[in-house]
Formats: sequence, C-alpha cells, structure tokens
Amino acid sequence: MEQRVAERTQELEHANLKLEATAHTDSLTGLNNRGHYFELGETALKKAVRSNSPLAVIMFDADHFKTVNDTYGHAAGDRALVHLAQMALQALRDTDILARVGGEEFAVVLENTTEQSAAEVAERLRASIAATPLILDTEELVLTVSVGLACLKPDRATSLDALLGLADKALYAAKAGGRNRVCCYSALQADANQPTPPG
Ligand code: GH3
Ligand code: MG
Ligand code: MG
Repeated sequence: MEQRVAERTQELEHANLKLEATAHTDSLTGLNNRGHYFELGETALKKAVRSNSPLAVIMFDADHFKTVNDTYGHAAGDRALVHLAQMALQALRDTDILARVGGEEFAVVLENTTEQSAAEVAERLRASIAATPLILDTEELVLTVSVGLACLKPDRATSLDALLGLADKALYAAKAGGRNRVCCYSALQADANQPTPPG
C-alpha cells in the first residue's frame, strides 16, 4: 500500500513538472514564452539590484517577415522562426534568458553583463543570422533581424517593463536606420544630446 502511494505521488509530481514546463514554453520554437520571460526576468532584475550589477536586455525582430510569409508561405515562415530561435540559442550563453515574446519578436535578459559585452553578443547574433540562410526545399532563405539593446545598473525603482521599453526604442531605431543592424539605447541618448547643427 505504502509503495503504491509513493509511486502515485511520484507520477503526480512528474505530471506537474510536465504541465509547468508546457505552461512556460512557446510551442513553436521551444523557447521560454512571454509569461515565463517576465517571471525569470523579474528574478534577474531583483538579483541585479541586490548585487549592484549591470543588467542588459536585447530585443530582436525579424525583418520584413510579412514578405517571408507572403513569398514562401506560412509553413516556411514557421520554419524560419524555429531557425531564428536555434541561431539565438547558439549565439547566447546558457545563463542568458531567451524567449519568444511576440509573433516574430524575441527578447533576452543578460545578467551581470556590461553594455559593451551585450553589444558584442547582439552583433554576433545579428551577423550569424544574416550569414546562415535557412535551407528550404528548393531555395535558400536569407533572414535578417534588427536588434535593440538597453543596459543599466537597476535600482529598486527600475521595472523590467521600463527596461524592455528602452530596448524597444533602440529596436525601433535599428528598423528606421535600415534594418539588419544593432542599435544601443545609450547611442540614441548621446545623439539626442548633440547640439543641433546651425542653419
Ligand atoms: P519589420 O521589418 O518592420 O519588422 O516588418 P515585418 O513584416 O516583419 O513586420 P509586420 O509586423 O508587418 O509583420 C509581422 C509578420 O509576422 C506578420 C505575421 O503574419 C508574421 N508572424 C507572426 N507570428 C507568426 C508565426 O507564428 N508564424 C508565421 N509564419 N508568421 C508569423
Ligand atoms: Mg518584423
Ligand atoms: Mg514585430
């Protein structure tokens, strides 16, 4: 009897773990989903505040993805998203928190990482995606992404939402600047502080 109870408990624990993993995972790419990204990101943010360490957020979005779907079909578009997820896993460290946070949009939290290191990671990610076409049945599909980066030493008033907002502004600037590029939020700030040229 005791043995059966123990077995049943173990089965239930196993089922619970499986359920939890499913609730945290994006079913197409197998990456963390948006909800789990926020959960893990909030924990990372608290840790960074406690240890007074820098925290970086990278957001990247597939360029002209609507055209990819329109040209190659939705199934190829889905394969392209899986490809992007795999490229990102290769470019990042095990400790980085990677998620698919929207349709063709991904986000990363890099703990204890300076802006310079995060910019290097972002550029490596961008370059590897641009250099590695997805092989389809009869052709090769070259994908590119635009990348926004924000990094700061958070204090108790910093929210993950706010940090993502800064990375999103940088991502928008990367799109506006021509796509397939990395833009740092701090560079936007520096530009905004430049005196307007006369004339
Ligand atoms: P931009 O370079 O400005 O980001 O242009 P875009 O075409 O990538 O952006 P837009 O927001 O106009 O289109 C996003 C497209 O991504 C449209 C949508 O159908 C596609 N998409 C979103 N989620 C999925 C998905 O799960 N699978 C596929 N195949 N396509 C998706
Ligand atoms: Mg896009
Ligand atoms: Mg998008």
